[in-house]
Amino acid sequence: MMKNKHLSKAIAGQGFHYFRKWLECKRSSLGIELRIADGFHPSGKACRVCGSIKADLKLKDSVYICDCGNQVDRDLNAAINLAGCVRYKTAWK
Ligand SMILES: [Zn+2]
Repeated sequence: MMKNKHLSKAIAGQGFHYFRKWLECKRSSLGIELRIADGFHPSGKACRVCGSIKADLKLKDSVYICDCGNQVDRDLNAAINLAGCVRYKTAWK
């Protein structure tokens, strides 16, 4: 997202680095696992029902509509896909 000239400034201002550090700190204090999905995992563009990738998904699309008939909130679709992600790293320090 940082390579997108329209988004990079807004993304930089969100403080994702500090959010991740906060999560790692919480993980450490609570003794739980923190899963870090690959940055290229298509969580937002993959259909949670059929698994097809929707390459033409635009930022303005708040509802994910797939050809298989699945229609769901985009963020919910991404969250469900991330919950089922099997390729991830764990933060254990
Ligand atoms: Zn689908």
